[in-house]
Amino acid sequence: MAKQEDQFKKVVSHAKEYGYVFQSSEIYDGLSAVYDYAQNGVELKKNIREYWWKSMVQMNDNIVGLDASIFMHPTTWKASGHVDAFNDPLIDNKDSKKRYRADVLIEDYVGKLEAKIEKEVAKAQKRFGDSFDRAQFIATNPRVLGYQEKGAAILKRMGQSLEKEDLADVKALIEELGIACPLSGSKNWTEVKQFNLMFGTKLGASADTAMDLYLRPETAQGIFVNFLNVQKTGRMKIPFGIAQTGKAFRNEIVARQFIFRMREFEQMEMQFFVRPGTQKEWYEQWKETRLKWHLSLGMGRDSYRFHDHDKLAHYADAAADIEFKFPFGFKELEGIHSRTDFDLKAHEEHSGKKLQYFDPELGESYVPYVVETSIGLDRMFLAVFSNSLEEEALENGTTRTVLKLPAVLAPTKAAIFPLVKKDGLPEVARKIVDDLKLDFNVIYDEKDAVGKRYRRQDAAGTPFCITVDHDSLNDHCVTIRHRDTMEQKRVSIADLKGIIHQEVSISSWLNKM
Ligand code: ATP
Repeated sequence: MAKQEDQFKKVVSHAKEYGYVFQSSEIYDGLSAVYDYAQNGVELKKNIREYWWKSMVQMNDNIVGLDASIFMHPTTWKASGHVDAFNDPLIDNKDSKKRYRADVLIEDYVGKLEAKIEKEVAKAQKRFGDSFDRAQFIATNPRVLGYQEKGAAILKRMGQSLEKEDLADVKALIEELGIACPLSGSKNWTEVKQFNLMFGTKLGASADTAMDLYLRPETAQGIFVNFLNVQKTGRMKIPFGIAQTGKAFRNEIVARQFIFRMREFEQMEMQFFVRPGTQKEWYEQWKETRLKWHLSLGMGRDSYRFHDHDKLAHYADAAADIEFKFPFGFKELEGIHSRTDFDLKAHEEHSGKKLQYFDPELGESYVPYVVETSIGLDRMFLAVFSNSLEEEALENGTTRTVLKLPAVLAPTKAAIFPLVKKDGLPEVARKIVDDLKLDFNVIYDEKDAVGKRYRRQDAAGTPFCITVDHDSLNDHCVTIRHRDTMEQKRVSIADLKGIIHQEVSISSWLNKM
């Protein structure tokens, strides 16, 4: 646990030191769970967004984009169920006065059982060596099975109690499990209460006529209310999707863990409209497609797992999360939800407008069913960033800090160095920068010894360093160094663009899907 915490602290401080993420309004001591993206962070974030957008919109001729407003008519949130049901169950510890999400306390308890399973696995692996079969061990070891059963039973009971709004039983479960306040160690809990997560604001200047509004807690509703506009003007035929990226706001009860849980964050959502009765197939298909998208970034199959929901939201008939192995354990990164016709029907009811599709093949009109994929851009940022940060032991006994970002997402694709600040080398290096900058984000750096410059770029996540030396003046070649392998090659200046393009272009990465 301590090791995980250390690793996470390193992630947070590296993100600050290398210009990725700053606390919001830091000079005023910051604002809880609100963050700013700095010069490198904004590029990484933009690249992740673009990688998602291209794979969703550009690569699918039946998916189009949308950019709806953050402010929406307040009835939207009545119809969507957010006014009545967008709640988290909160519980306070009477001694520490700290507030927690009751479901998160219970999930963390189950997380500890999972950690115990991993410990058993590690022990057995040591004992059996090469002949160890992980899957068989997990399926047969009585202790592991015991932990698994216990965890599943706890989650099932919690899911059922939350669904029935039986908050007294959620508290009873916390007490039965002996869960203590992580801060004070006390088990002196208040009752569990529901807390609405939407931020309210007002539209209009005069106090009497101002309209109560909410900052949107998800981008999805902007898509639903525009469903018919887009379908008609885009002449879209079912099945089709509408994709959108944008800010969402939630007054999270416990906002810890850096940019994992923020009060202002960005979502990348796609709502896929399908014929009723076909939603199960599409749900399975989107689960598979989304996992492939993640895997195309090369962060390893072991970093992901699916978690099927026991407790379904009021709008869903099936839901799963793609969980990622964050420094603090497996947690939700993306949700795939089969939302039925709940949202469109609710908007029909509240607006009095028909939101139906005429299916020419069936010769009838219906309210489509919806399968949604919803991922937090900031959470994806944290997944990529934390997974990439390594303290690497080198053969010469030293270590280097390297941020092995997938090259396609890296903020700066190449750094160009003159070996020395004289003899015409800076001019050649600057000319290379000018040639490359139309296609890629590149930088020029002449400060410090080359070894130091390499380290600086390794830590910032730049996949290529290009060094101009005295020979370059005659042979028009430079040394290109790869961040991950540290391999150096002599290549012609004329070939640089092609070499970099091959390794950083979205097309070559998305082709792996
Ligand atoms: P959680 O259970 O972690 O609160 P959720 O199930 O409420 O998440 P959804 O409503 O399904 O999340 O939102 C879709 C995605 O938006 C999540 O998978 C996550 O990546 C992202 N997300 C949700 N809330 C936040 C937040 N407060 N900060 C950052 N990202 C978030």
